[in-house]
Amino acid sequence: MAFLSDTLGRVKPSATIAVTNKARELKAAGKDVIGLGAGEPDFDTPQNIKDAAKRAIDDGKTKYTAVDGIPELKQAICDKFARENGLTYTPDQISVGTGGKQILYNALMATLNPGDEVIIPAPYWVSYPDMVLLAGGTPVTVPCGIETNFKLTPEALDGAITPRTKWLIFNSPSNPTGAGYTRDELKALTDVLMRHPHVWIMSDDMYEHLVFDDFEFTTPAQIEPGLYDRTLTCNGVSKAYAMTGWRIGYAGGPKALIKAMATLQSQSTSNPCSIAQYAAVEALNGPQEFLTEFRAAFQRRRNLVVDMLNAAPGITCPRPEGAFYVYPDISGCIGKTSAGGTRITDDEAFATALLEEEGVAVVFGAAFGMSPNFRVSYATSDAVLTEACTRIQRFCAGLA
Ligand code: PLP
Repeated sequence: MAFLSDTLGRVKPSATIAVTNKARELKAAGKDVIGLGAGEPDFDTPQNIKDAAKRAIDDGKTKYTAVDGIPELKQAICDKFARENGLTYTPDQISVGTGGKQILYNALMATLNPGDEVIIPAPYWVSYPDMVLLAGGTPVTVPCGIETNFKLTPEALDGAITPRTKWLIFNSPSNPTGAGYTRDELKALTDVLMRHPHVWIMSDDMYEHLVFDDFEFTTPAQIEPGLYDRTLTCNGVSKAYAMTGWRIGYAGGPKALIKAMATLQSQSTSNPCSIAQYAAVEALNGPQEFLTEFRAAFQRRRNLVVDMLNAAPGITCPRPEGAFYVYPDISGCIGKTSAGGTRITDDEAFATALLEEEGVAVVFGAAFGMSPNFRVSYATSDAVLTEACTRIQRFCAGLA
């Protein structure tokens, strides 16, 4: 449509949202569909957080606030960074936005010029490349295959850096693979970055609290203090506190960048919802015990899904360290024909046939920049996961 901007022509709608909508439509039409597409916990927001929001309403905390966050929330975030990550930030180094998504977007919009490159390890969260494009930059994707458990190696990072590189977007544990970098793996990457002082690091720590077994979460500025002045440490309450709808994300970073992000936000959305900000204060300062429960449930479900998927012919599924996703490889299914007569030419054909023939909605790997794979979000009950994986096994067994 000629009326629309050239910028819009460079981006595509989010594939994960599209799959979720498609599954919802089929369900509404009466089809028996299991949606494994959505990237949000199935738990309810904890009661103490809801109560804090109700109090905020009753106390009249319902007006405009400071553009990038109320002082109480900025302080709670500084305390969180100190307590959990060993990072020292002052409130003027903190930005609060409408979800982690706005924080990342603001940072890219505030820093990218045409020709600037942003390194994005693939598979990646669907929004990274499109956000870079919207901001006028150039995404440089680096394939990180199953042989490195979908993790970026120091050699691959070093090889992707050019004089035009502005940012590395680093995401651990990862959406869509669940892969989490160990302290040593991260140190090997920060060592490379120390040799390239013009490259900044955007660390997306959204899944920090969702890690399993004895995995220890770490973040770049903590592992390498030498990178503190060029790291934006991004996080949010959406995933850990089951608060996806409240829309609060935040970051800590250098003052000048934080100020630029506030300027941008002041001319776009202004402050994030005042009530949600008070709820986020309670999320960060309040009891954290329920996280143990969330983690235990997710770990159990991860094991269930990984075991059942690996029993499906043609599927290889690594057991990731965190988040609530797995990213099985389906090389063994490509080129075959489904029981319903669809030729599985690629992972999109696999996902479409799986939805049509077995009523299971997953997101195909091409949306995350690595094929042939698909992403399962296991943020749903054990019973639903068992049924979904049984259907996937049947679908794969029917491929000939
Ligand atoms: N970063 C990653 C890796 C995500 O998976 C998501 C949400 O799916 C976000 C950021 C955005 O989170 P929010 O809902 O707070 O905007």
